[in-house]
Amino acid sequence: MQAVVRTFAIGLAALFCMGQSAPDRIDYTLTPVITDGALTAVQYDLRFRGEADGETSISLPESWGGQNELWRGIDRLEVVSGGELRAGEGPARRLLTHRPNATVHLRYRVIQDFDGAPNAQQGNAYRPVIQPGYFHLIGEASIVTPTDADHTTPIRWRARNMPRGWALASDLEHRDLRLVNLWSSITVGGDFRIVHDRENQVRVALRGEWGFTDADFSARVAEIIRGQRRLFGDRPSQYLVTVIQLDNPQQNWLSIGGTGLGDAFAFFATPNAEAAPISRTLAHEGLHSWIPARIGGMPREGEAALYWLSEGFTDFYTGRVLVREGLWTPAQFAEDFNQTLRAYAQSPARTEPNTRILADFWSSQPVQQLPYQRGRMLATIWDARLRAAGGRDFDDVLLTMRDRAASGDATLANDLFAAVTQEMNLDVSGDVERHVMRGEAILLPEEVFAPCGRIVTEDITAFHRGFDIEATSSNNNIVAGTDPTLPAYAAGVRDGMVLIRRDAGAIGDSSQEIAYVMRDGETERTFRYMPTGHGVFTQQRLALAEGLAGERLAQCVRVLGGA
Ligand SMILES: [Zn+2]
Repeated sequence: MQAVVRTFAIGLAALFCMGQSAPDRIDYTLTPVITDGALTAVQYDLRFRGEADGETSISLPESWGGQNELWRGIDRLEVVSGGELRAGEGPARRLLTHRPNATVHLRYRVIQDFDGAPNAQQGNAYRPVIQPGYFHLIGEASIVTPTDADHTTPIRWRARNMPRGWALASDLEHRDLRLVNLWSSITVGGDFRIVHDRENQVRVALRGEWGFTDADFSARVAEIIRGQRRLFGDRPSQYLVTVIQLDNPQQNWLSIGGTGLGDAFAFFATPNAEAAPISRTLAHEGLHSWIPARIGGMPREGEAALYWLSEGFTDFYTGRVLVREGLWTPAQFAEDFNQTLRAYAQSPARTEPNTRILADFWSSQPVQQLPYQRGRMLATIWDARLRAAGGRDFDDVLLTMRDRAASGDATLANDLFAAVTQEMNLDVSGDVERHVMRGEAILLPEEVFAPCGRIVTEDITAFHRGFDIEATSSNNNIVAGTDPTLPAYAAGVRDGMVLIRRDAGAIGDSSQEIAYVMRDGETERTFRYMPTGHGVFTQQRLALAEGLAGERLAQCVRVLGGA
């Protein structure tokens, strides 16, 4: 996310710097370090002109994407020629002394600062990955720079001495690079397979075995990227998608994640990941090339307070683009949208104020989901209001923001959004204050997706098994924590029985009868009951109209997909 912000920053900075003398270029050269046939590090050499006063501050990577102390992945930083290196202020700084304006050659090794192959338990592998047969480097986590260099500083980047038979893929393989491109870059090398879709200018670099073919995957990626470009009216330009596997800490553990990096995205998944959720992740991450970078961008500080806009609008457009391109039917859209509504309804963080997101985005899963849910639901409401007023929809808001940003308007996305919606007579400030800032629960109007169907609002009884599942599983499946006031107890379930299996029902759904098989002394018994707990909560869902076909189906697709 931060990488995207930087992409924005250069766009503006470049405009203001025109006419001034361009800063000196920094040359970066990447070289794999192979020891006994295995990759042990990736070496970077950088050459640049030092400052006129003979002192140049050097910066190592620090924090990005929720990862901290990224300087731990930088090893053996040294001067090859042109100066002397001393300790700087803190572990992410060095002080370089040299003759005024001397050309300096620095060298360092990027190493992996955690054990073993990347694991799903650690989340997305944003830290440098250096494995015997491949590497995976995100610029933000692997690049050392002169501290005073900024996003606009021209750079040259090249890779050399790749071992025979190794593939290399990077979104830096083009001309006119600036430092911002390097920061928000992905470079992979090793036993990757590269599929190039020349028509759409999309390259996919992946490794490992999957439940889908490289060709199918590449085709799906190209369709999604093409749809996004169509939405924004962009011509094809080079785009890279990398995919690496994360080890499963346990069987049945499924993990899919990714991060948008301007003209690339890096994608991480466990080997059991299937095509459908991958497509959704790809659609979301790819949209970050535009949202928020090209609709005004985000502030340098306190970005999480605006994730309702950057992540929420991105999720809104994920469904929209997939429907528009025919990759999702209305039923698939409804299934995905209802998942958001269900998670929101059951979220323990549902009514937390926005300040909570700023504080706990990286540490609490329900809090992390909140801006995605709120922004997607609010964009849905605003889109419907614009359509009802006639002549416009949410695309007009987004594309106007894009036009303003492209024409050099330096207003950040949040303020640009407020200004553009006001001009379109859409009042969003009250909604933002109530539902984003204060956290009041959002309820969608019944007709928000008409004529696709209607939003059904239900009071749902909380789901409960009637016993404590965590205490039971950590107790060798000996039932514990039975609640005598709940239906399981009435059906005969007691502490001390042994849980064997579940034969019916769905976890999380209190409306379906559940059936547990348990051993009670010497006998095996089946208990059937409604898994209801205490309390109710309000949940909404999109119920598609029966027999949606013909002109009504076409209208529905236009509503979901945007006209
Ligand atoms: Zn996102």
